[in-house]
Amino acid sequence: MRLPWLWVLLVTSAVTVRQSEGLKREACLLPSTQMPEFEKSTVHIKDPERVEEIICSLIKGGAAKLQIITDFDMTLSRFSNNGKRCPTCHNIIDNCKLVTEECRKKLLQLKETYYPIEIDPNLTIEEKFPFMVEWYFKSHTLLIEQRLQKDKLPEVVRESDVCLREGYEQFFDKLQEHSVPMFIFSAGLGDVLEEIIRQAGVYHPNVKVVSNFMDFDDKGVLKGFKGELIHVYNKHDGALKNTEYFKQLKDNCNIILLGDSMGDLNMADGVSNVENILKIGFLNDKVDERLEKYLDSYDIVLVKDETMEVPNSILQKIL
Ligand code: C5P
Ligand code: MG
Repeated sequence: MRLPWLWVLLVTSAVTVRQSEGLKREACLLPSTQMPEFEKSTVHIKDPERVEEIICSLIKGGAAKLQIITDFDMTLSRFSNNGKRCPTCHNIIDNCKLVTEECRKKLLQLKETYYPIEIDPNLTIEEKFPFMVEWYFKSHTLLIEQRLQKDKLPEVVRESDVCLREGYEQFFDKLQEHSVPMFIFSAGLGDVLEEIIRQAGVYHPNVKVVSNFMDFDDKGVLKGFKGELIHVYNKHDGALKNTEYFKQLKDNCNIILLGDSMGDLNMADGVSNVENILKIGFLNDKVDERLEKYLDSYDIVLVKDETMEVPNSILQKIL
């Protein structure tokens, strides 16, 4: 009888692992048998054999070859908590006490206009692109008009409803423990993002944040934004601007990419030496309309899953 190829793969991978690292003997077994997290109803995979193959390669490569490239809003942070929508970095500012009621209303109107475009499954990225630029331009202009003060940001974050996904501590801490580089690539607000992970106690030295950073005048008042705008659908350009960072990580050719938007799929475009990449996508909103596209694009799709259980279970095997 012919052995199914998957079994052959598992045995050969396991043997290789056994030879190189005795402790990881059982490493390459089916996710469903070895990783109960994959049996959750939130986990959707179009091609389980391919996923298995990638995970086996990541396990073989271990910590030395691994790097993480991740989105922030609605990927590391939660989409909802107890049925209530959680804020993005921008929403933290939109809803804070530093912003006038009139400005808050305008920001909310912008969100109601542009967020449906951001997630519209019937528009192409090219069609959405100019609308995203418009949204960021208008909302950032309003924020600048509010003359936000830098020293108020910690308090604003502390008083917000922002929430990182369940299991985030394990995710960040494990990567830090094994010195695995983590690139957080966000079209949110860098200063707010950094404050969130700082307050959560997980802004470890292995973490690099690339995002939209505020530019303050010498009195600490917001006067603009630094560098080129990163929006939801231009992460390809942003990724290419960071080739220097990725060049330093030339041995880290195995990537786990985490995102929640179709735009996040381009976050690894600046890496020239990819050997294996596992793309994990959180699908939080408009699930029925978007699932098929997500399944075609992400290796693993986590539907309305507010936890880091699946990424953590994979790290557990690799590290
Ligand atoms: O970290 P990430 O790249 O996901 O950050 C982008 C998110 O910020 C988008 O999902 C978008 O909905 C949100 N956003 C917002 N308000 C803006 C601009 C973007 O909430 N003015
Ligand atoms: Mg996001």
